[in-house]
Amino acid sequence: MRMTVLASGSKGNSTVIASAHTRILVDAGLSCRELLKRMALANEDPAALDAILLTHEHQDHVAGLATLARRLRIPVFLTEPTHRAWVRMVTPRTTMTYAQWLDRLAQERAQKEDEARAGAPPQTDSPSEVGSLNSKSGRAESNSEEDPDEILEEASTPKPSPAFLPAVEYFHSGTRFSIGDISITPFTIPHDAADPCGFVFESESEQIRMAIATDLGYMPPNVKSALKRIDVLLLESNHDLEMLKDGPYPWAVKQRVLSRVGHLSNHATADFLARDYDGGAAFIVLGHLSEQNNAPELALLSAEQAIGNRMSLLGNRILLAQQSAPLAPICL
Ligand SMILES: [Zn+2]
Ligand SMILES: [Zn+2]
Repeated sequence: MRMTVLASGSKGNSTVIASAHTRILVDAGLSCRELLKRMALANEDPAALDAILLTHEHQDHVAGLATLARRLRIPVFLTEPTHRAWVRMVTPRTTMTYAQWLDRLAQERAQKEDEARAGAPPQTDSPSEVGSLNSKSGRAESNSEEDPDEILEEASTPKPSPAFLPAVEYFHSGTRFSIGDISITPFTIPHDAADPCGFVFESESEQIRMAIATDLGYMPPNVKSALKRIDVLLLESNHDLEMLKDGPYPWAVKQRVLSRVGHLSNHATADFLARDYDGGAAFIVLGHLSEQNNAPELALLSAEQAIGNRMSLLGNRILLAQQSAPLAPICL
């Protein structure tokens, strides 16, 4: 089994979990282009991905979701509340007041009456529309940042709804399900999203268990018990308490991060590792480090002290996931 952290932090999260026969991308929090670049760097073949699995709908976990899912034509696994929240997030607001609605109704009625009086057929291929289409594709071609495939699609077919996904599969937190030969147990985490989850991944044939637990305000009992007998653990170590308190974030944001539905501090992570962790993992990957309110050395030192003499060549090796580059694949 293999874990490849492509990115981790408040600017984007994405991790590949792979068994002999199945490959899952957990979160797609960078642009599609950047995700493909990271996969190439880490020797992960995007065409071999079977599904995308979502922890929650925050932007740093979904930024490239729709584009990547459409491009690879793979299903997205998420909970129904997360799906609803994401659809609301990406759908432009179309609310109007009652007065605006009456206005629009009157305009439409007047337009129909005009058409009926003129007896003209409805205009579909008016020269002005053809002109605007041409200018649209011309503009797209001059933009070197655009993906050639997408330009072609854009010119020939109407743009899909921003919330369109090729296939959606719902799971429920606490209920085990499978993608290919990987069995997945989602568990609820305390975080300010619609229905946030962490995951335990298990390959039956390889007897290896990997887990992802980031974006949680504290360590509740259900998370502590989910993280037993894990071989590779990606665990949040978001901020240093002093750096956050003295740092540049506005007061309200500091309160959010520190709250019971915010993020785990180095201190809280160390506390879990010292008191509740069973000591059985080969690798602990510290992730979702804040660039503003943490320093990698501080997070590492804090976790190392908590693990103490349980660190060895075979067990409890601590790695730091990064925001700007993929981590070398961890294979067991
Ligand atoms: Zn989040
Ligand atoms: Zn996050």
